[in-house]
Amino acid sequence: MELNGKVALVSGASSGIGAATARKLAANGVKVGVAARRLDRLEQLVSEIRAAGGEAVAIAMDVTDPAAVAVGVKKLADTYGAIDIAFNNAGLMPISDVESLKTDEWHRMMDVNVKGLLNTTAEVLPYMKKQGGGHIVNTSSIAGRKVFPGLAVYCSSKHAVTAFSEGLRLEVAPKHNIRVTCIQPGAVESELFEHISDEKYREQMEQLKDQMTFLKAEDIADTILFALKAPKHVNVAEVFVLPTTQPW
Ligand code: NDP
Repeated sequence: MELNGKVALVSGASSGIGAATARKLAANGVKVGVAARRLDRLEQLVSEIRAAGGEAVAIAMDVTDPAAVAVGVKKLADTYGAIDIAFNNAGLMPISDVESLKTDEWHRMMDVNVKGLLNTTAEVLPYMKKQGGGHIVNTSSIAGRKVFPGLAVYCSSKHAVTAFSEGLRLEVAPKHNIRVTCIQPGAVESELFEHISDEKYREQMEQLKDQMTFLKAEDIADTILFALKAPKHVNVAEVFVLPTTQPW
């Protein structure tokens, strides 16, 4: 797909993979709605994109709030007149053992990683159907393919993203010309570990950085651009991308 002039919504754009992808999309001529809760970060990113000659608008939006998502998606459509690409990327990973019973964190992971992605999908789909096509990219994870101790709930949330992506593709790709890509990264440098409240797992995750060279958020952005730029008849349905030195 020719990206120049297209309109994209990027959730989780205030840091990490989302911010890197928003920058690359804008550099390819895409008008980007950068969405997350931290508006100051989004405004900074918008300024940066505009200074580099791109187009972007900040959308303060908590993906767990369907009303806020509806307003945010409408803002993007009203601003640029279309929604061609939706990158459902907002997520969090406060991991711990199940027996620690950190139930608030379990619920937050499900609310953001799964329901948030559903909320955004529900709002962008009608636009894409009406336009006669689109591309939805969902951020799953290696945790959406494999299960690890300490990550039971996070893996559940990402397996749900993988399953939903495939189901969505089966339904909307042939019927509505909406391509669906599920991206499944291994370890990526970002702010993801900052929200781990369990000391043991926080330390374990930080130590991974000594064992391998993490992917950069830009590496994931590049693979997303590859899927988006594929010819119209090609749906890159899954992308499993890992650090070369990742041993699991
Ligand atoms: P970051 O923590 O850097 O980014 C997470 C983003 O999600 C932030 O922009 C944050 O914005 C946003 N977010 C969190 N909660 C909400 C919410 N309720 N509403 C809207 N936005 C929200 O981590 P990454 O860039 O690594 O994470 C991006 C995605 O990649 C996640 O889905 C993650 O699970 C996945 N992933 C990451 C891997 C890694 O190793 N880093 C590996 C595999 C997958 P704000 O706080 O401003 O709302």
